[in-house]
Amino acid sequence: MYYCESCKILCPENCCENCGKKALRTVNNDDFCFFIECPEDQAKMLKEALQEENIPCALIPNGRGVRSALGLNLENMRVFLPYAHLEKGEEIFNGIDPPPLDETEELRALLLENKSLWHTTGFFKSRSLRKKLGLAKDDDLNATLEALIKSATGIRDEGLISSSTVGGHYLIAKTEKYNLTFDSVSFEFFHVKKK
Ligand SMILES: [Zn+2]
Repeated sequence: MYYCESCKILCPENCCENCGKKALRTVNNDDFCFFIECPEDQAKMLKEALQEENIPCALIPNGRGVRSALGLNLENMRVFLPYAHLEKGEEIFNGIDPPPLDETEELRALLLENKSLWHTTGFFKSRSLRKKLGLAKDDDLNATLEALIKSATGIRDEGLISSSTVGGHYLIAKTEKYNLTFDSVSFEFFHVKKK
């Protein structure tokens, strides 16, 4: 697995699927990797749970934080974990906050109702997403996604995407083999994590 030092993400190929940087180095166990972006209170809860397992993490407020009229901090946090602890981190995160069943069904219905809007952007990104899902050249991506969404065991709203100008949220669908991430407003399919 390769690692982009600029984006702090893992890349299956020697080219960053986010920024396009080439000649990436292989990831080291102590490289901090982007794990999740979530509301501040949830991030703090996760941090405490990680500390109990002696897993270091870095919480970085995301730039487009909003302070409300009451002075409440509505900032999102981006959470980074060392590569070696990503898997355990996932387990801990699911443990502290399993997605409620009715939320899953609501979000499943939302995704399926809007399947005509599902799309990917960027050539490298699209190619990488298809590859991670094991699709051949002529396979239909949306048909594959539809089957996965229908069989997802949990779908959760992970909070505001800070780079979204239209208020999209991260929708993450957990299936037997993958975690799939959609934008809840544009319905862009933009991330897949193989379990
Ligand atoms: Zn990058």
